[in-house]
Amino acid sequence: MPKAFLIDTSRCTACRGCQVACKEWNELEPNRTLQYNWGSHQNPQDLNANNYKLIRFSERKEKNGTVRWNFFPDQCRHCVYPPCLETANGYIDEAVIQDEKTGAVIFTEQTAKLNKEEAQEVRESCPYDIPRRNEKNGQLTKCTMCFERISAGMLPACVKACPTGAMNFGEREEMEALAKKRLAIAKKTYPEAMLADPDDVNVIFLLTDKPKNYSYNAVAAVSDSLLNRKDFLAKLRRPFTQMM
Ligand code: SF4
Ligand code: SF4
Ligand code: SF4
Repeated sequence: MPKAFLIDTSRCTACRGCQVACKEWNELEPNRTLQYNWGSHQNPQDLNANNYKLIRFSERKEKNGTVRWNFFPDQCRHCVYPPCLETANGYIDEAVIQDEKTGAVIFTEQTAKLNKEEAQEVRESCPYDIPRRNEKNGQLTKCTMCFERISAGMLPACVKACPTGAMNFGEREEMEALAKKRLAIAKKTYPEAMLADPDDVNVIFLLTDKPKNYSYNAVAAVSDSLLNRKDFLAKLRRPFTQMM
């Protein structure tokens, strides 16, 4: 039975506990960052080889003049049919693998054998713009679903660290039921509340506002140079035979 996350943004306070826990567990190096003079508290400014998780901040004024702040704990969605796997493995065998038991999509050390252009193609094939290349060793990087932890029956580090119940993890069926329940609650306060691409991903986001008011990558989109959205979704849903 695959595992899944539910990320309930209605409960996210942007404390960044999950972001820090991810760096700590994965022993990722610090980044030199700039917290000021770019108009946002988002830090670092983007995902990178040392940040598999990033709280994206989006601030906007509503029609009634109220300022609204949306927080989006961005990470790999562990797609049900991952386009990154198809693209990467087209060049290098087992550069990306998908664990049949949990659904975790994992970038292996083999990704270092992709040249810069091929690695960029993998990045562009991701409908959520997640993969980043580690320029030091050439490997592609992203969230691992904390594979060692979940294999030992533990929660992913980011879920364990979250103090508000925004981050949730468990059996896919359980998360789907929780998503339905939380959505019904959220809709009472936020009529536009929705689940982002719930059938296509194993990291389901509950949004309380339009996706574009969270982040450019809150829902699936693809680079114009590769596939249009219709082709992409058709590709996602076709039978998948490359499970590990
Ligand atoms: S979100 Fe992107 S990197 Fe993650 S599994 Fe899907 S295609 Fe791959
Ligand atoms: S599951 Fe693990 S690797 Fe993925 S974002 Fe959470 S802490 Fe980071
Ligand atoms: S730990 Fe929870 S509340 Fe804090 S930023 Fe992450 S998801 Fe939001």
